[in-house]
Amino acid sequence: MYIEDTIAAISTPQGEGGIGIVRISGSQAEAIGHRLFRFRKGGAFVSHFLHYGTVAEPTGGAVIDEAMAVLMRAPHSYTREDVLELHCHGGMLVMERILASALACGARLAEPGEFTRRAFINGRIDLMQAEAVMDVITAKTEAALTLAQRQREGALSVRIDAIRQSLTRSLAFIEASIDFPEDDIGETDTAALRSGVTGALDEIGTLLAGFDEGRILREGISVLIVGKPNAGKSSLLNCLLRDNRAIVTHIPGTTRDIIEETVNLGGLAVRLLDTAGIRHTDDVVEREGIMRALDKIQLADLALFVLDSSQPFGDEDRMILDALGEITTIAVLNKIDLPRRIEFPSKVAQMPHAALSARSGAGVDGLRDLIRATFLHGSALDSREFVALSRARHRDALVSTRSSLRQFLSGLGEGRELETLAIDLRDALFAVGQVTGVTATDDVLDVIFSSFCIGK
Ligand code: GDP
Repeated sequence: MYIEDTIAAISTPQGEGGIGIVRISGSQAEAIGHRLFRFRKGGAFVSHFLHYGTVAEPTGGAVIDEAMAVLMRAPHSYTREDVLELHCHGGMLVMERILASALACGARLAEPGEFTRRAFINGRIDLMQAEAVMDVITAKTEAALTLAQRQREGALSVRIDAIRQSLTRSLAFIEASIDFPEDDIGETDTAALRSGVTGALDEIGTLLAGFDEGRILREGISVLIVGKPNAGKSSLLNCLLRDNRAIVTHIPGTTRDIIEETVNLGGLAVRLLDTAGIRHTDDVVEREGIMRALDKIQLADLALFVLDSSQPFGDEDRMILDALGEITTIAVLNKIDLPRRIEFPSKVAQMPHAALSARSGAGVDGLRDLIRATFLHGSALDSREFVALSRARHRDALVSTRSSLRQFLSGLGEGRELETLAIDLRDALFAVGQVTGVTATDDVLDVIFSSFCIGK
């Protein structure tokens, strides 16, 4: 990847749409614009103004489409380079011809996420904010979107930077002391170092404590509905889906047997792993169907264990209970409209449970609240300041920062050599720098940006 190149890509989604946008970024963007775009009334680009005209193949070729063009001159653009956007009709053929024309003028096809990567390399946003761009695009609930927007605006970056700055000051002090060994560091200095690093550790602790909730808000949870045949699994699934208009995805899962439906439970994106395909195939006996459903348990954050309350707790229920193991489980006591005959073993009685009728829908709201409360604690999101770590990459970097800082503190306590202490601090600074990308290597950047689509 060469940052000197001018890059181009279709930035709107694949498929047909009212409008499609071809985006070009780099030093040649304006020149390419002049070769492709014909102003309706003649003239030249005025930065950040929308111009009306046509897009044609380079140097007097055929007109491709009626279009609007906007040039955003560096540094006031997404990438901080000259960016040209050609807004045409949203047909694949139209956009591909415009893109091909831009390439013929010397642009290179952008790699996935390369526009955002340039925004990062050119210092407009840090790595956390770049990742948040992706989160904004893929957010499935209001809560996930709020979290992503705050991260994109830099609310988390500010806190990470404060940690870095404090550690940088401590390191500078130690390095100065190494350079001037005649000025021994005294009690006061040691106390100041300890309090600075302890403060950083506290802040890291706070950020790490928010990780689970942040990850859950960003990614949602996956829920597997299990239960013996006729317990009411399909009825429950339909209840959860029917009353919920915010079904955002319907994608076949990784195997033929499993289908994922996402519903929005009051801000929590819940992927219901539907094993209906397993239960209703003729060639699979029900018992084996249950076993195969149970095989998927490790995919889930939560199991809904559906029990038919009008029947005694039986062998099949027990088999399922045993297979549930340590997974977080809610016992769903279904068919409460019928006379109750079930008695639970104590293991089930200890689980959180919801009593409901999947047939009438009575009690289903209680289950929704219970699912939400199991994963989201309090309503932290209501607070304007709420930010949370939501990516394992950030967590891992902070965990490693924390371990270097703990090592530093014990070294300080033991009066270890300044050189050794400096190494701990440098390690900590390297690790925390991974979060916002100050110390991220090209390999790390490749992995992060390859998860973006072309055009972003
Ligand atoms: P699954 O095999 O676990 O998916 O169970 P189904 O959802 O197909 O339900 C099995 C039977 O129980 C069907 O005849 C449902 O109509 C019935 N059923 C499900 N939920 C209830 C309920 O809450 N009350 C009553 N009375 N019947 C129910």
